[in-house]
Amino acid sequence: HYNFCAGPAALPTTVLERARDELLDYHGSGVSVMEMSHRGEAFVSIAERAEADLRELLAIPDNYRVLFTQGGASLQFAALPYNLLGAGGRANFLHTGIWGKKAISEARHLFGDVHVAASSEENGHSAVPRQEDIVLSEDAAYLHYTANETIGGLEFDYIPEAIRPDGTPVPLVCDMSSTILSGPLDVSRFGVIYAGAQKNIGPAGLVMVIVRDDLLDQARDDMPTLFSYKALSEAGSMVNTPATYSWYLAGLVFNWLKGGIGGLTAMDAINSRKAARLYAAIDDSALYANPITLRNRSRMNVPFVLADPRLDSLFLEEAEAAGLLNLKGHRSVGGMRASLYNAVPEAAVAALIDFMADFEKRRG
Ligand code: PLP
Repeated sequence: HYNFCAGPAALPTTVLERARDELLDYHGSGVSVMEMSHRGEAFVSIAERAEADLRELLAIPDNYRVLFTQGGASLQFAALPYNLLGAGGRANFLHTGIWGKKAISEARHLFGDVHVAASSEENGHSAVPRQEDIVLSEDAAYLHYTANETIGGLEFDYIPEAIRPDGTPVPLVCDMSSTILSGPLDVSRFGVIYAGAQKNIGPAGLVMVIVRDDLLDQARDDMPTLFSYKALSEAGSMVNTPATYSWYLAGLVFNWLKGGIGGLTAMDAINSRKAARLYAAIDDSALYANPITLRNRSRMNVPFVLADPRLDSLFLEEAEAAGLLNLKGHRSVGGMRASLYNAVPEAAVAALIDFMADFEKRRG
C-alpha cells in the first residue's frame, strides 16, 4: 500500500519498524520510551539527540532555539501574537489560502486589528503575491506567511522580505507545517519557523518552533506560560511533561533523513523528481487538471480534479483497490489530492501515475 494522506501522513517504513522493535524494551532499559521519566537520563539523551540531528539537518544557527512543544500548529496561531506583540504594533500577514486565513483569524480574534500585507484571493489562490506587491503597515511587528498551503497546493517559490515602508526590517514568521525538512533552508532569514509534526516530522500534536533568541524578549506578559517561547526555551521544552513518545519518533525521522536519505539536499532532489513526474502526468492528460501557476505548484501536496467529477468516487474506489490510499481532496475543495511528503517513496508516485493513466484509458 502507498499512503498519500495530507496529514497525519505516512512515516518512513524503516522508522516504524525501528519503533516497533524498540517498543517494549528501549535499549535494554526494561521499559518503553512511553513509560520513561522525561527527566531521566535515557529520555534526556533521546531528546538531545533529536535536537542535535535537527540542527545538523537544517544547519540551524546557534542564535536560534529549538522548541518541541504541543497543541498542533493551530495553537501557534495564538501563541505567535502573544510572543511577538509585547512592544505593540500589529501582526502583518500574507493571505494565500485556508491556513494563512486561519492564522489571520486567530490573531484578529485575540488582538483585534491585523494588517494583510498581500493576498492571492484575487487570483483564487493560484499564484503567491510577488515581493513588489507586499506592503507592510507602518506599525508592523512581524510578517507571517504560510510557506505551503496544504489544501490549495500553493507553495512559495521564494522567501519574502519583511520590511516596513520606512525601511525597518521586522521578523519574518513562517508556518512550515507542510514543507519543513523537504529540502535545505536558510533559517537565518526567519524570526520564527514553526511546524506541526504530522507531515514531515512525526506524530500529530507535536509542534516544532525554531525561534531567533533576540525575539524571546518581545512577549506580552499576559499569556499562558505554556505559550511562552522564553519559558519553553529556559526549561528545555519541559515546562510541563512534553510529548515524549512523539519527540522520540521525530528523532527517529531525523536520523532516517540523515542516514537513510543522506541529508536534505538528497531529500530535495527526490521531492523535486516526485512532484515533477506527477505534474507532468497531470498536464499530459485530458482527464486530470491542476490550476496552480507553475512556479507556485506545491511539491508536497498535489491537488487535481477530474474533467468529469462524476468519476470522482469511482477513481477513489479503484485507487484504493489498487493500494493507493487517501487520495480524496480536502472536504472544503473536493477533487483529489496526492500528498508527496518525504516518507512517500518514488515508487508510490510511479504506481499512482500508472494507475491514473490506466484509469483514463478505461474511463476517461
Ligand atoms: N498549517 C498548515 C500549513 C497545515 O497544513 C496544518 C494542518 O494540516 C495546520 C497549520 C494545522 O495543524 P494542526 O492540525 O497541527 O493544528
